Amino acid sequence: MKAAFAYMGNIYIPLRTLFSGLGIELVVPPPPNNKTLNLGARLATETMCIPFKLTLGNIIKAMDMGADTVIHPSDVWSCRFGYYGRLYCYILKDLGYKFDRIDVAGHKFWEHYRTIKSLNKNSDILTTKAILEAIYRAYNKSSVMEFIEQTARNIRPYEIEKGFMTRILDRYLRALDKITSVKEMKQLKKRFVSDVNTIKKDLSRQPLKIKIVGESYCVVEPFVNFNLIQVLGENGILVDPFLTAHKWLGFHSIRLGNQERKLIKKLAHPYWKYNVGGEDENAVGYSLLAAQQGYDGIICLHPFGCMSSTAVQPVLQKISRDKNIPYLDIGLDEQTSETGFNTRIDAFISVLEKRRKLVRVE
Ligand code: SF4
Repeated sequence: MKAAFAYMGNIYIPLRTLFSGLGIELVVPPPPNNKTLNLGARLATETMCIPFKLTLGNIIKAMDMGADTVIHPSDVWSCRFGYYGRLYCYILKDLGYKFDRIDVAGHKFWEHYRTIKSLNKNSDILTTKAILEAIYRAYNKSSVMEFIEQTARNIRPYEIEKGFMTRILDRYLRALDKITSVKEMKQLKKRFVSDVNTIKKDLSRQPLKIKIVGESYCVVEPFVNFNLIQVLGENGILVDPFLTAHKWLGFHSIRLGNQERKLIKKLAHPYWKYNVGGEDENAVGYSLLAAQQGYDGIICLHPFGCMSSTAVQPVLQKISRDKNIPYLDIGLDEQTSETGFNTRIDAFISVLEKRRKLVRVE
């Protein structure tokens, strides 16, 4: 089985390990680009959110690269994400693609188990072993990936040679994607740490700290946010996204990190009582946490036209006023220009720098 799966940031790195351990080859398309976006935007209805348009373009690329099965989480969701999978399949069928479809949903557990069993000689023992090993390897890979990405975010603002950290990061992520044994992953992590220790840093800098909140795809996928995390980091800012590829897989898919989730829910409650979708409750909770933790500002990235992300904006503005923390919200779609985006980010950073200076003077 060769599977196509919606591409988002680096989630394909642990997913490739997970799927291959189960006997499924993951067909990974090239990272999203303008062609992918135009392809998806041409086929989706105009008002559909940008994550759908981009992932649709990616899935079509994967089909053209030989995928024969579309795998997608699908269930009763609070927003359109729940029917992304079905919509991909209707559109692909209209385009004449022939493929199988697997909707990953909790209530289909035994159906999924039988599919994996058919790929593992129809043996319960081999299937159980394959599932446990695949999860173990994928989890370890995802954790190493998180460590590498987190280190890069923490080091960039201090590096003397701009871009050095990013080059190391890219090299190690590529190497991580190629290995499968947990022993190799641990060795790679050690080599990464010793390489990072060679980076020349200026630790006297006092970088601005910015929290990124918003809709999952817009926060995690660098193409859609014009590589904001890297760009800010290389311009001397400590950036902390509330969600990463690792957290998306664990926190969202299998609900790991429940303590953090409970804290965010509790913080958000006075302002936002129900989780509607689009990371609304998380945006509220993490913004309040950022204010408590002394961040200099908050940037919210969300798809233009996403109902839940749009509905939460007035509440985030109120938090900004109540907690005296600057806040910038940016709606993204296929019309968003990189120049306009960067201009707004630059203006926001100038405000934060001026506030810092004023606080120092006082
Ligand atoms: S949260 Fe908003 S942008 Fe994301 S899938 Fe749902 S509707 Fe689309």
